[in-house]
Formats: sequence, structure tokens, C-alpha cells
Amino acid sequence: MIPFLDLASVNQVYRDELIAAATRVIDSGWYIQGREVQAFENEFAAFCGVSHAIGVGNGLDALTLILRAYMEMGVMNEGDGIIVPANTYIATILAITENRLTPILVEPDPATCNLDPQSARNFLESGCIPGTSETFPIDRIKGIMPVHLYGRLAPMEAINAIAATYQLKVIEDAAQAHGACRNGQRAGSFGDAAGFSFYPGKNLGALGDAGAVTTNDPALAAMVRALGNYGSHKKYINEVAGINSRLDEMQAALLRVKLAHLDEDTQKRRMAARAYMQGISHPGINLPMDTGDDSHVFHLFTIRTKHRDALRAHLENNHIQTLIHYPIPPHLQKAYAAWSSHSLPITESIHREILSLPMGPTITQKEIQHVITCINAFDQP
Ligand SMILES: *Cc1c(COP(=O)(O)O)cnc(C)c1O
Repeated sequence: MIPFLDLASVNQVYRDELIAAATRVIDSGWYIQGREVQAFENEFAAFCGVSHAIGVGNGLDALTLILRAYMEMGVMNEGDGIIVPANTYIATILAITENRLTPILVEPDPATCNLDPQSARNFLESGCIPGTSETFPIDRIKGIMPVHLYGRLAPMEAINAIAATYQLKVIEDAAQAHGACRNGQRAGSFGDAAGFSFYPGKNLGALGDAGAVTTNDPALAAMVRALGNYGSHKKYINEVAGINSRLDEMQAALLRVKLAHLDEDTQKRRMAARAYMQGISHPGINLPMDTGDDSHVFHLFTIRTKHRDALRAHLENNHIQTLIHYPIPPHLQKAYAAWSSHSLPITESIHREILSLPMGPTITQKEIQHVITCINAFDQP
């Protein structure tokens, strides 16, 4: 069986260093808010090219706390609208609704699956909520949340230009795009703030749950840090009612090991992606658009086909595990039943056609060649 992602083998490569880091934490007697977290925050901020990184409990909390901080700071208020791609992972949407803000779901660019600046602009010019006959007051739109989906940078220049026109906060969901880079600038440094996840399967994966917020805004950084620590800037002094969402010393120490090797791991993903791109040749299958730069870190290698389910079964029969990111878009989830009548055909076709092939830093050329051979031999119905 070729697994979709073999996490044991990913971490095996760094086993000795991970054990040394874990041992250091165990022996330190200090497990929350210590030197490892501080060091990781500094190293991750430097990696992203920002002045602040704040460790939090997971990626969802990272996004939730950014919005919560803007609410505490008076930048956003309950009910305000946040523009977001309709085809994102549910966590992006949960971060918005958790804060009683209103997601405005816009169609993605079908070529990249990322937020389409034109869809956002069309909404902002008309006030018409995409796929509905409803409108939303434009002066209550306060933010835009591009998602670097599958590891590909969203078109940040165009998004930042829209944000400047309409005075929106730009919050990157960078959970899938650690290290994705355009003209030397990395994911997490394009917007006003960004949320990262270090869920084990992410490109920079902890050995448990973990996340971080990055920003160049010192006031926002201080508010996020306080909110994740019971709302306390100073021990036992609570200015806001916060939560407990902290990165712990153990995960920080392990993440420091993995961060030091992240660029190598990304190169291995890019090599695997290149092999897929050069090898797959099938009239019914569309490959991801090649940008020819470092803006894609291939968290996922996704292909599109009208015969997705048949192809998936064919690969399964050939002992190749694939996954679907994602089978059901947020507006068709039961959790958001109120949006079930939204008509978002581009989003819905992506969810019908997308398929993620095995991808990771330890996948072998032989495994990739087997996947390619099986795909090219697929007899579509
Ligand atoms: C993984 C992910 C999240 C959530 O991160 P967790 O650490 O699992 O909470 C948010 N957004 C996107 C796009 C993700 O892929």
C-alpha cells in the first residue's frame, strides 16, 4: 500500500533530534511558557519574516484569536462581515462564526482554488452576497481571509489592494502554506495577521496539536497573547475575558527541530510534485497550475477529474491511498444549514472533482512512478 502520508516515516528522519529535544524538555522541569516556546516563536517569526509570532494551541485557535483580538480592539463588531473563499476547510469558517462575525462566502478562482479577487470585488461593488438574492451592508465588511489552499499562495497583491480600498483587515489562513514564497516574501507576512496550524499532517507538523499567529502589529500581538492566556497580559491581572490556548514547551521543542529542516522537506515535496506534473498524462485529468516559482509548497498535490470517484476506486484497487480535500463545502454542511440554498457552482464542482494524491517529504520516486503509471492507465467510464 502507498499511504497518502506516512507520518511515522516523516518523523523517523529526525528521530534522534526529536528525542534529544523531548529529553531537554522533560529534564527542564518547565512545561508551559518557557524558553522553548520563546525560542520557537523567535525562530518562526524570523522564518516568516515578521516581527511577532505567538504560539497557540492549534490552527483554529490561531484564526479565532486574531478575529477575537480585533473585536476586543474595537476594529470589528458582532455581525460584521468577513470575505472568505467558499471552498475552504471548515476551520476558516468556524473561526469567523465563533466570533459571531458573518462569513461572506465568495467563489474561488477555478484555476488555483484560491480566493478570486474579482469575486471579492464584485461583491464589494454590488453588496450582493454571492449565490443568493440577499445583500450585505458594505460598510460592515471588516476583513478578508485568503486561504493559501493546498499550499499555494493566494494572490496577495490583488487582495491587499482591495483591502486598502475598502479598509479591510487581511487575515491569512496559512495553515497549509508554511514557507510558501513569492519574490522572497513568505506566507504569514502578506496580511495584517496570519494563522498557522502545526497539526501533525501539516508541512510543519508537531507531534500533537499546535498553532501560531504571525503579525507585524505589536498591539494585535499583545492582544492575541493575552487572549490565549486567560486574557492576562500580566499574571493574575485580567483585562479581557480570554481562553487557555497556548503552545506548550514539548511541542515547541519538537517544532524547533522540524522548522530547521522545513526548507529541505519543502524541496522534497516540490520534487515529488514535479515528477507528478511531468509523468501524469491523461485526457480526463487536470493537473494543478504550474506557477514556476516557490509560491506552492505542495501541502497537497491535487488533481481534478469528472471521474473522481472512479479514479479513486481504481487507485485504491492498485493499493494507492488518496484523500478528498474536501468532500463537502462549508455551505452544504449541516452545521451551516442556513446557507444550504447558496448557489456556488465553482465551489461545488471543486468538491466533486478534486482528489489528493500521496504527497510528503518521504515519498519515494518509485512510489510516485507507480502512482503515475496507474493514473495514466485509468480507463475512464
Ligand atoms: C488545518 C487547517 C486549519 C486548522 O488547524 P488545526 O490546527 O487543525 O486547528 C485551518 N485552516 C486550514 C486551511 C487548515 O488546513
